[in-house]
Amino acid sequence: MSHVFSIDVEDWYQGIEIPMDQWEGFERRVEDSMERLLDLMARYDVTATCFVLGKVAEEHPDLVRGIHDAGHEIATHGYSHEKVYNLSPERFRRELRRSVNLIQGLTGERVLGHRAPYFSITEDALWALDILREEGLLYDSSIHPVFNYRYGIPNADRQPSVVESEDGAQVLEVPVATYPLPDPLPDTNMPCGGGAYLRIYPYRLQRWFLRKIEERGQHISVYVHPWEVDPEHPKIDLPVRVSATHYWNLDSTLSKLERLFRDFSFRSYHDVFVNELEALSA
Ligand SMILES: [Zn+2]
Repeated sequence: MSHVFSIDVEDWYQGIEIPMDQWEGFERRVEDSMERLLDLMARYDVTATCFVLGKVAEEHPDLVRGIHDAGHEIATHGYSHEKVYNLSPERFRRELRRSVNLIQGLTGERVLGHRAPYFSITEDALWALDILREEGLLYDSSIHPVFNYRYGIPNADRQPSVVESEDGAQVLEVPVATYPLPDPLPDTNMPCGGGAYLRIYPYRLQRWFLRKIEERGQHISVYVHPWEVDPEHPKIDLPVRVSATHYWNLDSTLSKLERLFRDFSFRSYHDVFVNELEALSA
């Protein structure tokens, strides 16, 4: 069974709640850390979806072309890394269009998918799905069916499903992996789809979660960030709630990913959901 692997392509200072107008002075490291991920994926024949931040596409066009030339799918992570529920629908549309145009200009291929920064399509931001479809996108991977202080719709579908808006627009929603705690435990989904959780869990526990999901015949979607395979990136003062997860166990990511690639088979969203996407675009 092929599962989905993705990378939210952003630099280390872009994923820690520093506003875009303060990014100027920080050391750029995204190209080097992406190279580590691209090498590892090539060794294990993994094809990924790379959700590229618009600002990264603007500053590193050769990086985007290189990812595309290596056979990976390029999708969008928005432009400014601001949470969707903090944006007006107008600004969300403007930033989406800007990032999609940047990427399509570099690859010559249509962008089909979107992942919001911090999984920030929550109950208050479901309007964003309509805009995605109006702007020509077919799938989204931004709704996380968990409790978290900054994101989540705890009772959302854990598996891929077609979400329909009030006026009938359809988008394929593919959440990252969660494991539903069994009875009599509370009705809660454990996040186990990568990011900080891949670094926090011992690898054996991570694999156990994914095998259990696989035994149900269900899809698994796992993601990482380039800065998670760059333990040497600068340490700066951050609120504890941000720094505790951002810097945790960074030197474990690459070896855990390698074991993950040995134990499971991964492709891009486009490859795994080709039939569902064709049906939506018909
Ligand atoms: Zn991000």
